[in-house]
Amino acid sequence: MRVLKFGGTSVGSAERMHALVDIINDNVPKIVVLSAMSGTTNNLVEISNALYAKDTAKAKQLIDTMYNKYKEVVKQLYKTEKEQTKGNQLIDSHFDYLRDFIKDVFTVNDERAILAQGELLSTALFHYYLEEAGVDSVLLPALNFMRIDENEEPDMKYIETHIQLELDKYPNCKLFITQGYICRNEFGDIDNLKRGGSDYTGTIIGAAIRSDEIQIWTDIDGMHNNDPRVVDKTYPIAELSFDEAAELAYFGAKILHPTCILPAQMRNIPVRLLNTMQPQAKGTLISSKATEDIFKAVAAKDGITAIKIKSVRMLLAYGFLRSVFEIFERYKTPIDMITTSEVSVSLTIDNVKNLDAIVTELQEFCSVEVNTDQTIVCVVGNFTAEQQGYAVRILEALKNIPIHMISYGGSENNVSVLIDSKLKKDALIALNKGLF
Ligand code: ADP
Ligand code: ASP
Ligand code: MG
Repeated sequence: MRVLKFGGTSVGSAERMHALVDIINDNVPKIVVLSAMSGTTNNLVEISNALYAKDTAKAKQLIDTMYNKYKEVVKQLYKTEKEQTKGNQLIDSHFDYLRDFIKDVFTVNDERAILAQGELLSTALFHYYLEEAGVDSVLLPALNFMRIDENEEPDMKYIETHIQLELDKYPNCKLFITQGYICRNEFGDIDNLKRGGSDYTGTIIGAAIRSDEIQIWTDIDGMHNNDPRVVDKTYPIAELSFDEAAELAYFGAKILHPTCILPAQMRNIPVRLLNTMQPQAKGTLISSKATEDIFKAVAAKDGITAIKIKSVRMLLAYGFLRSVFEIFERYKTPIDMITTSEVSVSLTIDNVKNLDAIVTELQEFCSVEVNTDQTIVCVVGNFTAEQQGYAVRILEALKNIPIHMISYGGSENNVSVLIDSKLKKDALIALNKGLF
């Protein structure tokens, strides 16, 4: 059984949904994971923000605008009266549900329930379209099997058992449709896998059913060697190892959710990145096979905060790093990049929710300097200890960019540097010129 995930643009209009049928209707057994239609999750975030701010008028207006957009989709999606009626009833019920949240208190759980509406809508609308087109399919409710645990990690045991229970109900079905992104949490409440999380749903399901291949269909012909939104003349990479793809995803290549490679890597299931606008393009194959190019690609992660910590105690004090890391652990704040010297350590975080509390605790035994608006630029490739000259080429390319931190050695696939965010574009262009 294959898993095919289609992103927001791939289901972004009635026309795109029509085009999907050609890709999925080939009798190969598969589970199709869909995102919300493009723009929808952003709209739902805006609605939630208006509700948090108690701006009822704005929330109403946003819901109305979105409702009209979906009315138009229904009009264009179906030919028959029967499916038009079903489509309209479906969106009426989802938008009535959204309107019910216009009330006094708006909670985090309400927000999560609102954010789930996009994928519930896209999958149900598409399922009706398949019905109209005479293609047999079953809509699997992701909320019946996708679950995260108390650490917000996928609960793989639960997912494996429960997706199998769902699949076993339809022994003759070859085409299943399900929602990306949405799940339940440890309390059984509706939750999600964070923005871009449909990729993660795809690989989690792929791992859970031990799929032979996971395909991620999007609006570009595979992973490019640099961010195509920032740099001209980027090109698709034919093959990446799991480690390389995971580093690129984690360090900002938006085409993949930051942690979505792991489930596929754990079960050694190849992941193919493909383009719905150009289904014949080769795309990118991600697998356990090592590749040889020295430089593979560059990615950048914005919204980074750097914290420079200097021990006020004497040189060689042991236990210093432990005391520092304990604080970050207590505040459940992951550290991305780290460099150390004898009495000081610089590190970066992207979750600043508890920054003030962390800094206050650090200041009890350290001097602390905080720099915001930083970007990690990550160069991915084969940088084994035997490989010579790569560091010079990276630094030579970046010779006009002030560098705040450099990190190599944690992995043989990645050299990362920390720079001011305002210099990101210059850095990516310089690396494109210097390395590829
Ligand atoms: P989807 O909605 O299908 O999940 P996304 O917008 O999340 O699609 O991801 C695809 C987009 O990622 C591309 O349109 C491209 O602009 C952006 N992107 C950023 N970095 C890269 C990269 N290195 N290679 C390919 N695409 C990238
Ligand atoms: N719809 C969600 C988002 O926009 C999940 C996804 O598209 O992957 O973040
Ligand atoms: Mg995405």
